Amino acid sequence: MERTLGPRLLSIMAHPDDSEMLVGGTLFHLKAVGWTVGIATMTAGDCGSSLHSRAEISRIRLAEAEAAAALLDGWYSCVGLNDVEVFTNAENLRRVVEVMRTFDPDVVITHSPADYMVDHEETSRLVRAASFALAIPLYQTHQRPPAPTSRATPALYYADPVEGVDPMGRRIHPQFYVNIESQIENKRRMLSCHESQRDWLRRHHGMDEYLDRMMAWAQKFGQESGFLYAEGLRQHLGHGYPHEPLVQTALGPLASHRV
Ligand SMILES: [Zn+2]
Repeated sequence: MERTLGPRLLSIMAHPDDSEMLVGGTLFHLKAVGWTVGIATMTAGDCGSSLHSRAEISRIRLAEAEAAAALLDGWYSCVGLNDVEVFTNAENLRRVVEVMRTFDPDVVITHSPADYMVDHEETSRLVRAASFALAIPLYQTHQRPPAPTSRATPALYYADPVEGVDPMGRRIHPQFYVNIESQIENKRRMLSCHESQRDWLRRHHGMDEYLDRMMAWAQKFGQESGFLYAEGLRQHLGHGYPHEPLVQTALGPLASHRV
């Protein structure tokens, strides 16, 4: 893979469209300041249709995910797990580590540890474990040939949970908000690449629920932060993970700490 000088950011979430929905504006901001952005998903979104077979919808959604990542000149990869079967176990961890080592990130964004769907929570757990394992030379993925061991443990960030709440409906507040007003159109464009999901909801709700929902969430987080539109993030500050505020520093005044 071609190396660039800027930091390498991997947003790795459960399904195609999760990164776009939760942190699309932040990804565009970081791309604009010279970061290299990659997106990975645990699944190809193989259950996300009432019209197609699992194989057909997987093909369609992988192409949509690649088109969305291309708007960021970004790399895309799928770990290859199945929808509603994302679980933390040794085999899945090896697969996640292999994909992450292939990209070799300095910074990783994943789901909130508490979120509405188990796929999201297990992805968060898998990515947290994988981030720790990336730079351990004796941890082998059994791939032939394996991706090289990473240079260092990446900084780890969590996106807001969907709708900003945990499974019991309690608000999970971000550590800092990102002002995405100048990127809201890019975020809409990126999400529009997922035409199969937009269609599915349009057919069921008779409105463009997919894009409207994203705009409503961005506005809600915006109201909390004093911005028109915002996304929220938290940095994992456990022992062994970098504590440098790499994303906050790169965003400068676009990032606002919660008071
Ligand atoms: Zn999802």
